[in-house]
Order: sequence, then structure tokens, then C-alpha cells
Amino acid sequence: TNFVIAIDGFSSCGKSTVAKALAKELNFVFIDSGAMYRAVTLYFLRKNIDFSNLKEVDSALSKIQIDFVPNGSNTEIHLNGTDVSAEIRQMYVSEQVSEVAAIKAVRVAMVAQQQLLGARRNIVMDGRDIGTTVFPDADLKLFMTADPEIRAQRRFIELQAKGEHTTMEEVRANLSHRDLIDSTREESPLRQADDALVIDNSNLSQEEQLNLVIAKYQA
Ligand code: C5P
Repeated sequence: TNFVIAIDGFSSCGKSTVAKALAKELNFVFIDSGAMYRAVTLYFLRKNIDFSNLKEVDSALSKIQIDFVPNGSNTEIHLNGTDVSAEIRQMYVSEQVSEVAAIKAVRVAMVAQQQLLGARRNIVMDGRDIGTTVFPDADLKLFMTADPEIRAQRRFIELQAKGEHTTMEEVRANLSHRDLIDSTREESPLRQADDALVIDNSNLSQEEQLNLVIAKYQA
């Protein structure tokens, strides 16, 4: 049977960095569940969908196809057949994604797809509700945390490297805005699973984090 590793935590805690390294090391498939919510958000913004109109939301959801497409050592995310990997990381998507991810119909659709993606193969999936809702029986659950200021700094450097014009203030505000909505929404809010291993990586290198998780995996 397959092995599922669930990684949850607040925004910019280094979940996907650990998830990617872990998937590579163990030869598992890595799935970034946040990218799916971002792709849905991008579609809604492009089509000017009124988030509060359930009919519009449902009809839009029925027109969205999301695929993860391997390309060399990377995985692209495709929205209706087009690579949107870069665009979904832009600030204007980050600013709306938590509102979209709080919509019940959106979560129902994404969770179903995530469960299919993780059926019958070894995966590492990162997100907010993977160990609690998507895979409550995951074989290994991690909950990542880090000092908020360190998180904001990391995200700021990342965005700058991509040529995105933003300030530390904006990044800080976006992270705390998303954390608040993600942890207070009605539908599967961000929670630490009781059986998750908590990793505070404020002062850990990527190698130290990977070693810690591998040790736990082998135990
Ligand atoms: O992981 P990332 O920061 O790219 O996720 C973007 C947003 O998608 C989060 O802030 C959250 O609102 C939403 N999300 C979620 N559940 C997940 C993954 C992401 O609600 N499993």
C-alpha cells in the first residue's frame, strides 16, 4: 500500500521546500495543494467571478481543469491546459487566495481532487488541512512553524528574486491576513493535527530539517 506524508502550517513556513526535498529523497510524488487554490483564484480573477455568488462559483468550478505536469526536475501547474506556475505566485493572487479557499464549494472540489492524486501512490502533500481533512490517516504528519518575521523575510527575498515589486510591509500584511483567514474560516480551518510532529524551522537549515524528517520517517 502507499505511504502518505502530510505537511501543514502557516504561510511561508518552508513547507514546500521540505516537501520537495523529501519527495526527491524518497522518490515520492510532491503535490503542492496551495497551488491548486491559487489556480482557482487566478481563474476567478480572470473571469471576474463574484466570490459571494454561489451559482457563479459552482459554474466556474465546473469549467476548471487543474493538472500537475512534470517538466524535468520541476512540476508545472496547468490551468485548463496552460502553464500558470509563475502567475499564481504573484501578489495579486496571494491577496485573494485565502478568500477563495474559504469557500466551501471550492474546498469540496479541491479536497476530492487531492484525495484522488494521493490514492495508490507515495506522496508528500503540503497545505493547511492535509493531515486533518484531506488525509486524516496519513502515515506521517508534520506541522511546520517559524518566527513570523523570519517568514516574512524569506517570502520577501523570494518575491524580489522573481522581480515582483513589493515591500516588507506588504509581505508581512499578506502573511498575517492569510494566516488569520486560514485559521478562522468555517470549512476545515488550519489546525495542527494531534499526531503531527511539530517542527519550528526558524533556526534550522534545510539540511537539518530534511535529516529530522527522514529520521522520523525511518523510525
Ligand atoms: O501554500 P500556499 O501559501 O501557496 O497556499 C495559498 C493559500 O491557499 C493559503 O493561504 C490558503 O488560503 C489556501 N490553502 C488552503 N488549504 C490548503 C492549501 C492552501 O486553504 N491545503
